[in-house]
Amino acid sequence: MSRVRRLPAVPCPVRGEGFASWVDRVAAVLEVPPGVAARALGLECRQWGSSTRPLFFGVTLTPASLDGLRNATGLRAAELRQMHLDRYAGTVLDLSGVELSREASLTAVAAREWMMPTWSRACPPCLKRDGVWPLWWRLGIAAVCPVHRCLLVDVCPRCGVRLLRGSERVPRGLLTREPLPAVGECANRPPHGPRGRAGLCRQVLPDIPATAVPEVWADLQRRVLAVAGGVRLSGSRASR
Ligand SMILES: [Zn+2]
Ligand SMILES: [Zn+2]
Repeated sequence: MSRVRRLPAVPCPVRGEGFASWVDRVAAVLEVPPGVAARALGLECRQWGSSTRPLFFGVTLTPASLDGLRNATGLRAAELRQMHLDRYAGTVLDLSGVELSREASLTAVAAREWMMPTWSRACPPCLKRDGVWPLWWRLGIAAVCPVHRCLLVDVCPRCGVRLLRGSERVPRGLLTREPLPAVGECANRPPHGPRGRAGLCRQVLPDIPATAVPEVWADLQRRVLAVAGGVRLSGSRASR
């Protein structure tokens, strides 16, 4: 029997949403820091200092995390798995080498594969409109927003750190203590800034200027995403 209690209300995942984005939205609804929400969701976590990080966060679910999540939310396993990068295994990613009993096994796989488990690219107009981070923005093939026809941003123009990374050197886990950064703020720690919360970047991510690209780029991105999603092109299954 799992000891995880059913949560009173959690937002449904938006179609295509990444797991970290959804955990953030759960935290906002529960009015707790995201690291606290991760534990309430039954995720298997590692803790250091004032931050916590679910094992294989956003890449795959350990059996214990899947069990905890299902008990906490009532969501189906398929819905929960859709939010993780391993949904692309077999199309644009090869996650062979990941051992669920050994998180360090992810390091070599993450370095080899075209994916960003600890940071993300982003389309600022999409963030302004939806406040949701799609999973595909964490794929190496993510370059252009097909809706807004602009380049995806990967580095914050204010702090120079990759989006959502936390700090350039070591990725940050989920915060477990108040006060939290304002919604939409970068909150990365620039390399030589002051310590403490005062040192966190205040850039509002949806306000970052986006660079327009021609429609043909948007069309190419749509095709690549279709392949990543498993669509067959020219009658044969897409392979890596
Ligand atoms: Zn967009
Ligand atoms: Zn920043």
